[in-house]
Amino acid sequence: MKVYLCAISNISSGTCAEDCAFCTQSAKYGADIERYRYKPIENIVKEAKRAKAAKAVGFCLVTAGKGVEAKTLDFVCEAAKAVKKEVGDISLIGCNGTAGVEELKEMKKAGIENYNHNLETSKSFYKNICTTHTWQERYQTCLNVKEAGLNLCTGGIFGMGESETQREELLKEIASLEPMSVPINFFHPNPALPIKKSPLSKEEALNIVQRAKELLPNSMIMVAGGRELVFGEDWPALLEAGANSIVIGDYLTTKGEEPSKDLAILEKLGYEIAQNCHE
Ligand code: SF4
Repeated sequence: MKVYLCAISNISSGTCAEDCAFCTQSAKYGADIERYRYKPIENIVKEAKRAKAAKAVGFCLVTAGKGVEAKTLDFVCEAAKAVKKEVGDISLIGCNGTAGVEELKEMKKAGIENYNHNLETSKSFYKNICTTHTWQERYQTCLNVKEAGLNLCTGGIFGMGESETQREELLKEIASLEPMSVPINFFHPNPALPIKKSPLSKEEALNIVQRAKELLPNSMIMVAGGRELVFGEDWPALLEAGANSIVIGDYLTTKGEEPSKDLAILEKLGYEIAQNCHE
């Protein structure tokens, strides 16, 4: 089986006015994280080069904030063009919040091929995790991504207090969008956040991945945040359960595993590492 590796870069961190209860980047909760408006372009390019050297086929440009205002759109496009020029063959993913079709088309022109916008949780649980913007707005951005001709990556975060029925609801809502890729995150507790939940058990996490694969047989199932937290070194069990993609390196505000360590495990187990995002 082929495994797709993806890396993320937090190019604008921790300056968000929204109140998503799972997110340390909300300025409201004062979590102890690094905060900066715009990461220097040369640093973004360096990270993309490192990601490519670590066999990542995708590189995600993430900005904190509800949506892409004009200045952020210009910055994301500038970063995308610089990475394309300096690094070349790595598939770029925009992840910049609520976006309209025109803004998404601008990103596409700058070399971004995919857009990540998570539904985060089911429609029925959403009011428990966010009051400053709606679930419908999130769903609409996902539709806009498709209309703009970009590949859609949409998933969510599990373990925030939602019921099993609501997990199923979320996976079906994701499936209704027929995304290319489904990022699955396991909630990472932080003392500053209002959600007070322990990490999911391995069994619960494996059930989620297995069900995602059943409902989305044609999508890439990507395990993102919380992989190390929930599984430690046992994370390859996620691949057996149906995942075929992982995020390597650091996450937005938490440390990840050294990519070389993940690669060594994959190679030892005989997994083939994908050479590009769409093969
Ligand atoms: S809109 Fe995005 S960056 Fe802002 S609090 Fe919500 S998840 Fe975090």
